[in-house]
Amino acid sequence: MVDIRIGFGYDSHEFKAGVPLRIGGMTLDHPEGLAGHSDGDVLLHAITDALLGSVAAGDIGTFFPPGDPRWKDADSSIFLNLALEELQHAGFQIVNIDTTLILAAPKIAPVAGAMCARVADLLNVKLDQVSIKAKTPEGLNLDRVVQCHAVALVERVQETDELKSMEEVIESQRQLEDVVDDLLSSVHGVPKKRTITPVYDTEDIT
Ligand SMILES: [Zn+2]
Repeated sequence: MVDIRIGFGYDSHEFKAGVPLRIGGMTLDHPEGLAGHSDGDVLLHAITDALLGSVAAGDIGTFFPPGDPRWKDADSSIFLNLALEELQHAGFQIVNIDTTLILAAPKIAPVAGAMCARVADLLNVKLDQVSIKAKTPEGLNLDRVVQCHAVALVERVQETDELKSMEEVIESQRQLEDVVDDLLSSVHGVPKKRTITPVYDTEDIT
């Protein structure tokens, strides 16, 4: 049975002078950055919340309270890593991530490819599993704010076929040993036993 989940994340940060603009784990060329306790990476925060949400593991604030001095100016890839650990712990892996940034400036289109590659790298997934789109905040009067929406589809990690076939081989060997034991006991009256023969005689180990 296919076991899939979906998670949604949203975040917003206000523009602030004197700090670098960090979006998608990249520093963008722009006169202002985003205010925030961490590096203000709105895209990574939204993805973090989408991933945590997909396995009902709370949100970014659950793990990283905004007032905690440890996360002051923190690189937001830390938050993403925690979400990936939670995902793995729950037994799930990413199918795909889709995001929409809403901002007046700078233009995202010229850097979207590089940003997708960076985020895919941070998430340890393929390039075609990450989508980053951008819109301007038409009619919202929110030119001083960057918002981001993110959805994450995740699936339960299946045992690999290789592992399954290995288990089958081990199981068939056990059955074979049982058959041999049964034969021996019926022919010779030898009691059934299963002894483990050490690879090396302990006497040989000096
Ligand atoms: Zn944020």
